[in-house]
Amino acid sequence: MDPSGVAAQTQKSPWGSVGPAAPACSLTEVMSEQLARQLDEENAFPALSDPAVDPLRPEEAPDTASDLMLAQMLQMQFDREFDDQLRREEKKFNGDSKVSISFENYRMVHPYEDSDSSEDEVDWQDTRLDPYRADKPQTTPRRGFSGKGKNITTKHDEDTCGRKNTARMDNFAPEVHVGDGLGMDLKLSNQVFNSLKQHCYSEQRRSARLHEKKEHSTAEQAVDPRTRLLMYKMVNAGVLENINGCISTGKESVVFHADGGSLEEQPVPEEVVLKVFKTTLNEFKNRDRYIKDDYRFKDRFSKLNPRKVIRLWAEKEMHNLSRMKKAGIPCPDVVLLKKHILVMSFIGKEHVPAPKLKDVMLGSEEMKEAYQQVLQLMQQLYQDCSLVHADLSEYNMLWHQGKVWLIDVSQSVEPTHPHGLEFLFRDCRNVSTFFQKRGVSEAMSVYDLFNTVTGLNIPVGAEDEALFMAEIVALEKRNEDHIQKRGKKTFLVTSEDGGPPLEPDSDD
Ligand code: ADP
Ligand code: MG
Repeated sequence: MDPSGVAAQTQKSPWGSVGPAAPACSLTEVMSEQLARQLDEENAFPALSDPAVDPLRPEEAPDTASDLMLAQMLQMQFDREFDDQLRREEKKFNGDSKVSISFENYRMVHPYEDSDSSEDEVDWQDTRLDPYRADKPQTTPRRGFSGKGKNITTKHDEDTCGRKNTARMDNFAPEVHVGDGLGMDLKLSNQVFNSLKQHCYSEQRRSARLHEKKEHSTAEQAVDPRTRLLMYKMVNAGVLENINGCISTGKESVVFHADGGSLEEQPVPEEVVLKVFKTTLNEFKNRDRYIKDDYRFKDRFSKLNPRKVIRLWAEKEMHNLSRMKKAGIPCPDVVLLKKHILVMSFIGKEHVPAPKLKDVMLGSEEMKEAYQQVLQLMQQLYQDCSLVHADLSEYNMLWHQGKVWLIDVSQSVEPTHPHGLEFLFRDCRNVSTFFQKRGVSEAMSVYDLFNTVTGLNIPVGAEDEALFMAEIVALEKRNEDHIQKRGKKTFLVTSEDGGPPLEPDSDD
């Protein structure tokens, strides 16, 4: 520990051979001495390789001219060596023990004054010596007290608790400024600490709420809190990366664009839409007829409360889309159904949804092509999927990558639905009218289109709509009666596997 002993061994040490103190001199003498030295340096700078000249020798170094400077240098050197020795002793004392005793308080040079030595830079990284970190309060042993007899200190000791509380402030959220308490022995009472903690938590919650509000303000207008929670859960679960914004707000549904995440190792498309079926029940009253009479949902419908009926709409859209996909009809892929929210692939690119047929500007050739596609889609839907769209129009067909895509099939029904053929007739009328208006000369009349799609041969004759409709209703009625009587469907056989429908029962 004796620093002079160590120092004497090295010649380079500042106190190895200090020259006699310079006698007091006048300012002019100092000036002239400096001038002389300056001239000396300019004229004859000694070669570094000259063994006789050691630039590190204190008596040759210019800085040692002043006594005060010299004394400070000596003191500094002494302090450093003292600290080095102290560090060695501390290391030896603590060994590999997990609990270590710091000799920090006995050091002469504080680490941040000492950062020019590389060895100390390592110390700086050592969190134990980080001056901005509150010293770890002494831990109380498991038995709950330390010391003996009168000097016993329990874990409830005010000072110990206070120090512990101060250290615990490190665990507050990063945005809470707790200060560094550098070099101070801070003690926070339990009461102060607890109210600080409480304040931090409520601040965090408040700012999270504000953040959410900002992020999802668009979503907020359109969906109720329950739905919002479901949407957030999907983001939390990683199914969605992000919910971006609302694509459409309709009477019965709100459609959002979102970035896909992943679902049980299975990738979710990069861009998806969330179709949220509105839980405001009024809107759905008119639509009961689509679902109430759909035999697939009949049993369940009667047993359900209105909120659950809304889920049926989402479920129905999912089933219908899956059937269409199997038949190779261009339509969104179902990703996930969660209560009344259906997640499906996005038709469009880079956040821009594909335009509806109503909005897209197509040349006459492309329009003709679109018509041919729609005709084929209607046939596939009816014959391969046993479905009638029931809301088919230029609003529910998108134009994407040179193809017509069908969407919005929550109300789609099987042709055996008591009103299925009427719905189909309406679809046909929408399609015929649209393409005729757009100048597609090939566009068939509504009657021909209906017969082509169904394969039925309802006489067109004078093209009286009332007559045609009467035929359709009669067909539906016959079918319904047949079901009642024999418990099976006749003019069309529908099956879950999408097998082809049979021709009308001629003897019925
Ligand atoms: P609604 O019953 O409210 O009409 P839709 O299913 O037709 O619901 O969706 C409304 C709008 O949202 C559509 O017109 C379309 O612009 C957009 N949309 C819906 N689904 C998708 C999708 N998968 N990809 C891109 N846009 C979609
Ligand atoms: Mg629609």
